[in-house]
Amino acid sequence: MTNDAQPETTQQPFQAEVAQLLKLMVHSVYSETEIFLRELISNASDACDKLRYEAISAQNLLGEAGPPSIRIIPNKTAGSLTILDTGIGMSRDELVENLGTIARSGTKEFVEQLTEAKNGTGLIGQFGVGFYAAFMVADRIDVVSRRAGSEEVWVWSSTGDAGFEITSADDEQTQRVQRGTEITLHLKSDASDYLEPHTIERIVRLYSDHIQFPIELIDEAGESRQVNAASAIWQRSKSELTDEDYTEAYRTVAHAFDEPAVTLHYKAEGRQSYAVLLFVPTQQPFDLFDQARKGHVKLYVRRVYISDEAELLPAYLRFARGVIDSEDLPLNISREMLQNNPHVAAIRSAVTGRVLTELERLAEKDQDVFSKVWEAFGPVIKEGIYEDGERRERLLKLVRFTTTSNAARSLAQYIEALKPNQTEIYYLLGDNADQLRSNPVLESARARGIEVLLLTDHVDAFWTSVQPDYEGKPFKSLSQSDINFDLVPLLDEPTKTQDKEDDTSVVDETVVLAAVKSALEGLVADVRSSKRLTDSPACLVADQSSPDRRLERMMAAANKLPATLPILEINMKNRIVSAIADEESAGNSSDVADLAHFLFEQAQILDGEIPGDPAAFALRMNRLVERGLSGSSKQAE
Ligand code: ADP
Repeated sequence: MTNDAQPETTQQPFQAEVAQLLKLMVHSVYSETEIFLRELISNASDACDKLRYEAISAQNLLGEAGPPSIRIIPNKTAGSLTILDTGIGMSRDELVENLGTIARSGTKEFVEQLTEAKNGTGLIGQFGVGFYAAFMVADRIDVVSRRAGSEEVWVWSSTGDAGFEITSADDEQTQRVQRGTEITLHLKSDASDYLEPHTIERIVRLYSDHIQFPIELIDEAGESRQVNAASAIWQRSKSELTDEDYTEAYRTVAHAFDEPAVTLHYKAEGRQSYAVLLFVPTQQPFDLFDQARKGHVKLYVRRVYISDEAELLPAYLRFARGVIDSEDLPLNISREMLQNNPHVAAIRSAVTGRVLTELERLAEKDQDVFSKVWEAFGPVIKEGIYEDGERRERLLKLVRFTTTSNAARSLAQYIEALKPNQTEIYYLLGDNADQLRSNPVLESARARGIEVLLLTDHVDAFWTSVQPDYEGKPFKSLSQSDINFDLVPLLDEPTKTQDKEDDTSVVDETVVLAAVKSALEGLVADVRSSKRLTDSPACLVADQSSPDRRLERMMAAANKLPATLPILEINMKNRIVSAIADEESAGNSSDVADLAHFLFEQAQILDGEIPGDPAAFALRMNRLVERGLSGSSKQAE
């Protein structure tokens, strides 16, 4: 198409989330507005990477505009700053899509959270604002772009309010932008410092020195000077690089604001040659639990960016960021071919091992930083226990648990604290640790001082279902029916006389069990006498051959299937249980039914469930209390 004298203009609104995000940006949540330049340079560098990749199979794309590069042009007279790249460029549709919407899933929820937060700074760091950050310093932005190989040039323009305008470029713009993207920021009056060459140079050196394409600064006189080292940082030797270099490289590749907890930089030589520069962040990105479980490691082949879709690490390490640059893969490898490529598989296996080694080292030498990593990514790493049988034991070593004794316990510490004759690692699954602590199934473990892992992450129900063991000790759920602590001594051995007293209070087991079972017909699979309760009257457990109750509940919710019925365990020494025996022998079947339901529903609540019929529950409670009241008033008479 030709660019007519009458340019074709359309107005488009921003996607609602973009408009919200921009509002937040303009009422600046960042104090460091200068990162806008890092974001734009990072986008320009990505665009140059993409061009080089596409040019492998379509040489003509390089055309007359030469190798990809980035230029920065301040114009004090116009009060504008231009960032120009000769990268891949954007078509009209891409301008609308990329600079008018945010396609990342979960964006809507995240932006809502951001809007409600009192201090958005921390949160926005999880998101990476990218291009939109430029509205912190500019009150209007014009983007002129030509997709590589295209005749068309389009102009996107916005003041950052409700929407943007798309126009076909005029002749002069078409002539000027031979390939790639020219972004002109009309700076706000308080942002004029970004027109000073020394300021620009400082910012580029600070944030973007390691960008592998040359970044040129053009001064007022039209003189051009390269202001970055322009060599791929991962190819440089470690001795040349400072911690700051690494931090900035991390922030650029990850669009992040935090410090990396782990930096892994090495070159592998031998059957496979490749360079690795990987970072483990300390802050969770907002889309960590996105269903796609997409990784963020970029694959390069001999300095040329190929893809960020190659599975260079297993999904349970998807929080790692950075670059792997292979010397062996063919440059023209298609993204589809990467999927089952043996080179990629070999790299993945070796690098996974190295990342785990680094995490192990960190856990040993810097517990504070490790605990941050664990807090942010522990639930993701635990997916590996389920998925990566080969490295299960290594992963289990990394896990930090909240237990009945303490927070952040490792299994090594757990094993050290085993009680005499304890041969299993006990755990309990639930929604939160406090609720779990009050679960009656813990009573008998508590009476023996047995430590119990309190597992509250969603993923815990899954990895425990593969029935792992650690150093020969199997994991065992306390809410399973076959728990027997008889061989582990009690902390306070009951005296003989106490035993006797207890014995006399024991009721006729068979009668009570049968009565409760018949009252709870259809609600429980069985009613059994409990060995695990010391104080509470009842608890719910799963049959030893069934999955844990929490996993079952989750599966049932997902498939909308009813969960299998639990087993009700009752404490034969409890007063309510003896009351059932009394009512049963007196033939008061409706009282037996009320008390049996009361036991069951109480156990449900303590297990984090809501009784199926809350109205019936309340009525029953009222009946029991009223009976208690009339009983005590009779006694008083
Ligand atoms: P992100 O870089 O995190 O995807 P941005 O908002 O910064 O988010 O950019 C959105 C998209 O716009 C990019 O993914 C890219 O496709 C496109 N884009 C931005 N800047 C450029 C550029 N200079 N050249 C080509 N495409 C660009």
